Amino acid sequence: MNRTVLSRQSSVVSCQSSVVSRQLSVVSKDVEKLKQAIRDVPDFPKRGIIFKDITPLLSQPELFRKIIDLLAQRYLTQKIDKIIAIEARGFILGAALAYRLKTGFVPIRKKNKLPWKVFSATYALEYGQDSLEVHQDALQNKERVLIVDDVLATGGTVSAVLELVEKLGAEVVEIACLIELTFLNGREKLKQVPMYSLIQY
Ligand code: AMP
Repeated sequence: MNRTVLSRQSSVVSCQSSVVSRQLSVVSKDVEKLKQAIRDVPDFPKRGIIFKDITPLLSQPELFRKIIDLLAQRYLTQKIDKIIAIEARGFILGAALAYRLKTGFVPIRKKNKLPWKVFSATYALEYGQDSLEVHQDALQNKERVLIVDDVLATGGTVSAVLELVEKLGAEVVEIACLIELTFLNGREKLKQVPMYSLIQY
């Protein structure tokens, strides 16, 4: 290989890396805009909890689209059969993403809301305890699923969903959350299942 070819290759590499870093800075600017639209509500629903209110974000069309576009970009090239979303705010993101990715949609609901035969799992919340349920025929064995929720806090909710998905015999591609409260170390509960968040605190 002569010197001209080598220098042309290295300029292609440096051009590609500058495209990548430009793309990264566009994404981080987008993420910054999303972050600015999230409202912190202190002491809701309990004293000591800072609630991440995403309603101001959802009400702005360009920001709502941005969330779905950024998540879709990550998963468009992957084989995903179904989105599993968690009641209630997970439904908003999960349903829009399922439409975009052309997948099925499976709701995970709080106790006694689903009408058919269910599997249940109990979990501890950042503020309390509850049970989650899924229809026993919601997934086929070996189906590839993406779990979607708005916030990963202590990881208790998503761990319960992992338990349900395991009972159904499906494979989890990834867990996708809009917001991750990293100081609560929720990821550590997720049994090494890959987890992605757009916004971290
Ligand atoms: P956890 O099980 O602790 O990971 O809590 C996650 C679930 O609780 C998600 O479904 C969230 O909707 C909700 N959640 C927990 N903490 C917060 C918070 N600080 N702000 C908004 N939602 C939260």
